[in-house]
Amino acid sequence: MTGPSNPSLQPLVDGNSIETPPRIPSPEHRFGTLAVHSGAHHDPSTGAVIAPISLSTTYAQTDVGKPVGLYEYTRSANPNRDNFEEAVAALEHARYALAFSSGSATTATILQSLASGSHVVSVSDVYGGTHRYFTKVASAHGVQVTFTPCIELHVENLIRPNETKLIWIESPSNPTLGLVDIRKVATVAHQHGIKVVVDNTFLSPYIQNPLDHGADIVVHSVTKYINGHSDVLMGVAAFNCDELKERLSFLQNAIGAVPSPFDCWLAHRGLKTLHLRAREATKNATTVAQTLEESPLVISVNYPGLKSHPQREIAIKQHRDGMGGGMLSFRIKGGKEAAERFCRSTRIFTLAESLGGVESLVEVPSSMTHAGIPKEQREAAGVFDDLVRMSCGIEDTEDLKVDVLQALEKSAKPDDAAAITNGA
Ligand SMILES: *Cc1c(COP(=O)(O)O)cnc(C)c1O
Repeated sequence: MTGPSNPSLQPLVDGNSIETPPRIPSPEHRFGTLAVHSGAHHDPSTGAVIAPISLSTTYAQTDVGKPVGLYEYTRSANPNRDNFEEAVAALEHARYALAFSSGSATTATILQSLASGSHVVSVSDVYGGTHRYFTKVASAHGVQVTFTPCIELHVENLIRPNETKLIWIESPSNPTLGLVDIRKVATVAHQHGIKVVVDNTFLSPYIQNPLDHGADIVVHSVTKYINGHSDVLMGVAAFNCDELKERLSFLQNAIGAVPSPFDCWLAHRGLKTLHLRAREATKNATTVAQTLEESPLVISVNYPGLKSHPQREIAIKQHRDGMGGGMLSFRIKGGKEAAERFCRSTRIFTLAESLGGVESLVEVPSSMTHAGIPKEQREAAGVFDDLVRMSCGIEDTEDLKVDVLQALEKSAKPDDAAAITNGA
């Protein structure tokens, strides 16, 4: 949450007749300024501009029950975690943020906060690990989840009076990049006293701030864009409500799925360049998506930054400057074989799961990230065997474009060839 007090960040005392400029950062500052300065307190003992990594698990006390400063034991609170949480809260326009050892631990802790007998409504194409937790773990402690492919249309009918406590949204969805109108769902949810969670991992706080559109909790796998360098596993939840703060920080401490001080320090360092990385990734993904869309070797492209995206209006309303983010997927001509060959043929895009790092990645969801979902269910959600998912990094645009074109040439089968294969 809010970090240790730093004199340079104290609110201005009223009654000061001299007009003083606002301290840095304050909520009126813009994203880049907040990213660089929020939670980035100078070390009061040495003046170090970058906070030291506080590895100590315990903190000395001057008398029984009287710690020297704010800290007693690192699971309950740690300076590096506080700094990181303060920064995420600022970027998500939240009063509070809590960091966890992974995105999955964040999801688990939020689900754990529900009483036995509670009901959750979720979008169908949630992250695989979230789906696994909902169907295989939450049910064991008496929490039921109903999935729906069109949450805006069906949410009202799926709400069970007195039982439904949470609505879970992922926008854009994975791997088909479908969007949800958060405000629309939140309006219905709030009429029934239900809280709305948005997994904002795919866009990062630079492109979308779900709390501004009515969500109650925003969650991230920090592992992806916020850290951005594919070297930290971590999660975070941000929200405004005091009651949630009390309940979730109690669980954060009780369950103990907290990140290490080093990971918090690294993720905080990564977060400082989020705006630069998100802009470059969007620029690259936009060019790659347009290149794919123009190719006769491609069936269709899913990218919220394209005019052809069926929910482009939502992107314009919900995303910063209508940006599409760094993630896209497309169907290649030539089926599963072509999709797999494409991933083996790219030279800059690395064949690997995960996303949101500075390096570009490519994968085939039906055989990798989404292999656990039965084929029929998968295809109903648009995850065909010929679907390729790409995470665009921050390399040079032209190099990525050339890489995609040469890989397409090597792997896709033009229409007549595909027809012959299908007829065989
Ligand atoms: C990766 C991911 C998660 C899970 O996060 P971990 O840090 O891997 O536990 C949750 N949601 C989305 C959308 C993700 O991409």
